[in-house]
Amino acid sequence: MSDILFCPTCKTYTLNNICIRCKKKTITKKPPKFSPQDHYGEYRRKLKKRIKKEKKPDKEKENV
Ligand SMILES: [Zn+2]
Repeated sequence: MSDILFCPTCKTYTLNNICIRCKKKTITKKPPKFSPQDHYGEYRRKLKKRIKKEKKPDKEKENV
């Protein structure tokens, strides 16, 4: 059992349940709960927005 724990207060990784620096409870760093699909969709949306912002598409090709 060697879960890597994380103290959100000092932003430090540790193996202790209690942060040795600030004595606060550390949390388990889990991978984000987003499903790959959602994540990808969000990423795509953001990217699309950014592209639109940076330079306008000449014929709304991004609307697929
Ligand atoms: Zn801490």
